[in-house]
Amino acid sequence: MQPTRPLVAGNWKMNGLSSALDEAVRIGEMFSARRRGCDAMICPPATLVKALVGRVAGSGILVGGQDCHPAAKGAHTGDISAEMLADLGASAVIVGHSERRGDHGESDEIVRRKAEAAHRAGLIAIICVGETAGQRTAGLTVPVVARQIRRSVPDGATAANTIIAYEPVWAIGSGMTPTRLDVMIVHQEIRRLMSGRADAAGMRILYGGSVNAGNARDLMSAEDVDGALVGGASLKADDFLGIIAAYDEA
Ligand code: PEP
Repeated sequence: MQPTRPLVAGNWKMNGLSSALDEAVRIGEMFSARRRGCDAMICPPATLVKALVGRVAGSGILVGGQDCHPAAKGAHTGDISAEMLADLGASAVIVGHSERRGDHGESDEIVRRKAEAAHRAGLIAIICVGETAGQRTAGLTVPVVARQIRRSVPDGATAANTIIAYEPVWAIGSGMTPTRLDVMIVHQEIRRLMSGRADAAGMRILYGGSVNAGNARDLMSAEDVDGALVGGASLKADDFLGIIAAYDEA
């Protein structure tokens, strides 16, 4: 996976039993059959990572985890380490998703340590940031996201080992999206913040939040948007491929 090439990544969240692997195989078959203008990734529940890696092998679909513990191993019942995900064949891991920040009280500092763990294990860290509805209404979107970036992105983040996902919390699973201009303003600020760091040029900045086949082309055409992180619409092959089609080459 090369930095600057767009990425469409699917986050299956806590969805999918082993039968869901057939849908992933369909995605892989359809993805490998097209002129690919972007990379594609599926982040299934941890229970499916190993099987998915095997089932989509050769299709070009990458596989990622949805979370990892900061430590490599130890007494952390129920957790999974970045090293374990790498051992299963994952090449990336999402950290700091708003559902983790909200449901599990994950602070920016914990998210940064998780991103460091991903790097330690050789995984790409997909670091999520985004404002709540209240913060947006208060006009705080850019300062909130800038603070999350400064605190959540580790010093060692480069274009090769890190992807930023801007996901307004209010847009996730709601069917609502910011305007293309709103997305561009936030992505430009993230680009500006990252541009001061060594080896961060060309770091991919994804947009996430109610992306679907109908709005993907518009959102993905905004300046500094390098792809999408997709929840609900990544569960069905036709929906996910409809988003990937925004990058189809002529
Ligand atoms: C997400 O959870 O990362 C997400 C973007 O969800 P959805 O596409 O369903 O809004």
